[in-house]
Amino acid sequence: QEEITRRSQAMDKNDTSDLRKFSRQAYLQKRRDKKIDEIRDEILDHEYIFQDVKLTEAEEKEFRYKKKIYDLVKEHVESADDVAEYKMPEAYDMGDSVNQEKRFSVAMQRYKDPEARDKMNPFAEQEAWEEHQIGKSKLQFGSKDRKRYSDDYQYVFEDGIDFVKSSVIEGTQHEEDSDQEDIDEKDMLKRELQDERKTLPIYKFRDELLKAVEEYQVIVIVGETGSGKTTQIPQYLHEAGYTAKGKVACTQPRRVAAMSVAARVSQEMGVKLGHEVGYSIRFEDCTSEKTLIKYMTDGMLLREFLGEPDLASYSVVMVDEAHERTLSTDILFGLVKDISRFRPDLKLLISSATLDAEKFSDYFDSAPIFKIPGRRYPVEVHYTKAPEADYIDAAIVTVLQIHVTQPPGDILVFLTGQEEIETIDEILKHRTRGLGTKIAELIICPIYANLPTELQAKIFEPTPEGARKVVLATNIAETSLTIDGIKYVIDPGFCKIKSYNPRTGMESLLINPISKASANQRAGRSGRTGPGKCFRLYTSYNYMHDLEDNTVPEIQRTNLANVVLTLKSLGIHDLVNFDFMDPPPSEALLKALEQLFALSALNSRGELTKTGRRMAEFPLDPMLSKMIVASEKYKCSDEVISIASMLSVGNSIFYRPKDKQVYNSWKETDYSTQWCYENYIQVRSMKRARDIRDQLEGLLERVEIEISSNASDLDAIKKAITSGKNGSYRTVKNPQTVLPRWVIYHELVLTTKEYMRQVTELKPDWLVEIAPHYYQLKD
Ligand code: ADP
Ligand code: MG
Repeated sequence: QEEITRRSQAMDKNDTSDLRKFSRQAYLQKRRDKKIDEIRDEILDHEYIFQDVKLTEAEEKEFRYKKKIYDLVKEHVESADDVAEYKMPEAYDMGDSVNQEKRFSVAMQRYKDPEARDKMNPFAEQEAWEEHQIGKSKLQFGSKDRKRYSDDYQYVFEDGIDFVKSSVIEGTQHEEDSDQEDIDEKDMLKRELQDERKTLPIYKFRDELLKAVEEYQVIVIVGETGSGKTTQIPQYLHEAGYTAKGKVACTQPRRVAAMSVAARVSQEMGVKLGHEVGYSIRFEDCTSEKTLIKYMTDGMLLREFLGEPDLASYSVVMVDEAHERTLSTDILFGLVKDISRFRPDLKLLISSATLDAEKFSDYFDSAPIFKIPGRRYPVEVHYTKAPEADYIDAAIVTVLQIHVTQPPGDILVFLTGQEEIETIDEILKHRTRGLGTKIAELIICPIYANLPTELQAKIFEPTPEGARKVVLATNIAETSLTIDGIKYVIDPGFCKIKSYNPRTGMESLLINPISKASANQRAGRSGRTGPGKCFRLYTSYNYMHDLEDNTVPEIQRTNLANVVLTLKSLGIHDLVNFDFMDPPPSEALLKALEQLFALSALNSRGELTKTGRRMAEFPLDPMLSKMIVASEKYKCSDEVISIASMLSVGNSIFYRPKDKQVYNSWKETDYSTQWCYENYIQVRSMKRARDIRDQLEGLLERVEIEISSNASDLDAIKKAITSGKNGSYRTVKNPQTVLPRWVIYHELVLTTKEYMRQVTELKPDWLVEIAPHYYQLKD
């Protein structure tokens, strides 16, 4: 930032000698910084071993945790005679003490890469044996044997996991109540949805809550997951007449939660989804003129500020799942706190599933805390005796172990993402198929953000008598969604966490250990309708010593460019003094300013430019928005919005890459499904891309950019893409494939190595042509 200011001052003075001298200096300085960054990144990426590099406490913890896992991996691998797989590249071979540690890091990274994992599966032998045993079971028993929990099947799990019961998380309900509860539960299914609403813990507090809302402008609400906060409170407010004065907004950190909860509430109110009750998520607006209760992602409410800075059309804003502390939620806090001062009629509800509500209350000027006593049964917590090398495999074994040995009750498994869920889904199906009718039916229900809506509803369907449901979920089931009937929770102890390196501007999504708070939330999911059991696939030592107490709020570990652009568009210039609950690192704020400057969204004084204002209209990452805005100049907006929408659907387009001209070829076949099948392309993703593209086309009109096609001029399109890059770069030393000298990438993925995804060639002169303010002074 200093550099930017100095440069612009020099330019203003028109003093070229100074400018030249300065730029030379700056250039050398910058080069040195970059070099240092590069070396440091390499160290951090590949290893933590260099003693003179100072690690943060968190990094060190992570390292120690991984080290432990590594030792275990090593044990398995060496016994499997598979060490060759781990051989370090020559360059890293720096003597034994170091080598050991390096191997660990590479092993860890390999481990996260499913393909590599397959190759080095320490359980391969066991799996083969298991297959064999399963095969035998078919022959031995035929189909007439219908005994269910028979010892005969135990052998399948001879190598099952030993758990130690370690503690019981006390419930608030005593066991004796459970019979009554069971009868109530059965009864409940038969009653109408309206009666069901009355059984939720929150119902008893309905009137009290409404009185509090009337009395105070801001209230913090705390209640156990499943007590009815999300589905009931907006309805209570509607019934009490708040929707006559404006809409009730309820924000959710996750798309799936917003959709699913809106669907449920519309059912309860007996209205069509999208009419009185609707939802709004990025690229999908399911609301209408009639809508009174609007569930939305926190990011969408943030965007609504752009069009309606005082949220005039709302009478109540409920910031739900506040404990999740997503980036958007944290920014919303500052904004709603601000508007509540000049809109005394606007009611604010901050609701959270955890008990540390004081922090929220303090932030909102000592707002009163409304506690909804939860209904919770005791949960037995079991830990593994020894750390598990492969939590995927451990989770599968544990599911089967529970299914065969434990009394009825559904299972919930926490996993880190779609790929993992799909893998386990497949393996479980395969293994249970092998057992045929020997075991009770196991209904497998995956749930994750990209799951098609029609399949999402499946997790809520009651489990048929005699069968058992196993829900394979991401963190979404931790607090956002409550699935009734869960009695067993399997917690491998990991989740995907975004982290950001402001020095390089590099963002990565990596699998990390969860926090103690998360672990306890997860365990609690099993004790909602009766006493539950939670199986942690890690040791109690791990829990005590390796898990952080709480997850770091997203705002402290993410790229802030998007947020800074939004805040600037709202006229908030003084970001350093913005009322953050937990301020982001100033380094990250500066990096965001620099990136936006590189994209010409801000001028050298940090003020929003016309380009920046246009960019803010697009609900996209600033780099993609800039690419679209820049396409005007190169007369290729038609192509560029296709590219932007395809990039927005993520990596789920190809089953197998084949046709490079995907979007246009699809369009030529009149969006044919058959064509997608023939070309190994996911129809669903393409349809989503089409939806997104339609919306981007609408937004082009809003920022007055004409649709123009320039398909024959590839350079023009590439220049537009180049315009959308913010100056972050990577130097590739030993590329594994033949690369042009200069390429642009959309994503950097870290598995066994760093992979650039979505790559195209560029010419270095373009940089100067496109962003002279950023590049020309450097050389
Ligand atoms: P909280 O927000 O306090 O965690 P919710 O309002 O989300 O609680 O949930 C209350 C009840 O509504 C739970 O018993 C849950 O199972 C049920 N529920 C919520 N969403 C759905 C849905 N989409 N389908 C069926 N039941 C649902
Ligand atoms: Mg909720």
